[in-house]
Amino acid sequence: MDRTHCIRPAMVLALAISCTCGSAARAAGKAHEHGALRLDVAVDGHTLTIAMQAPLDNLLGFERAPRTEAERKAAADMLARLRSPDRAPPLFAADAAAQCSLSRAEVSAPVLEPGAGAAAKDEHADLDADYEFSCARPGELRNLDVGLFEAYRRIQRIDVQVAGPTGQAKVTLKRPARSVRLLR
Ligand SMILES: [Zn+2]
Repeated sequence: MDRTHCIRPAMVLALAISCTCGSAARAAGKAHEHGALRLDVAVDGHTLTIAMQAPLDNLLGFERAPRTEAERKAAADMLARLRSPDRAPPLFAADAAAQCSLSRAEVSAPVLEPGAGAAAKDEHADLDADYEFSCARPGELRNLDVGLFEAYRRIQRIDVQVAGPTGQAKVTLKRPARSVRLLR
C-alpha cells in the first residue's frame, strides 16, 4: 500500500487543528502587541468595509472588566465612541467626493460585557469592530483618513491590509501618518 495515502488525512487534520487553535487564541485575546492595532480595509462595489482588531489596552488602558464607577464610565464612553466612528472628529473618513455613509457598526469586547468572568491577571483582551460604509460614488474613493492616533494616544502603530478588485497591499501607519491609499 502506498504510504502517502495513510499520511495525508493525518496532515489535513493537523492543519485543521492548528487553524482552530489560532483563531481560538485570537478570540481569547492572546498574543497581541500593546500599541499596535490591525485594520482590514476593503472596497467592493459601493461598499467600503473596515475591520479593526485592537488590544483593549490601546483604547482603554486596561483589559479586564471595569472595577470602579470611573472605569465603567470610561468603558461605556469608549464603546459608544467606537459605535459612532463617523462622529466628528471621525475615526475613519473616506474622500468626501465618494459620498460614503456609515451603514453598519458592530463593536465587540467580550471582557467588558456584563457578567464576563474575572480574567486572570496576565490575560489579554481584544476589541473587535466591524464597519461598513455605503458609497454613492465609489469611483471617487482614493484614500481613507484614519483618526485613531488622535483619538487614542496609546496606539503607536497600525498594520493595515488593504484589498480591492485590483489586488491587495499591506501598509503600516506610524504616528502621525493617517492616510491609507485605497485599492479599487
Ligand atoms: Zn494585552
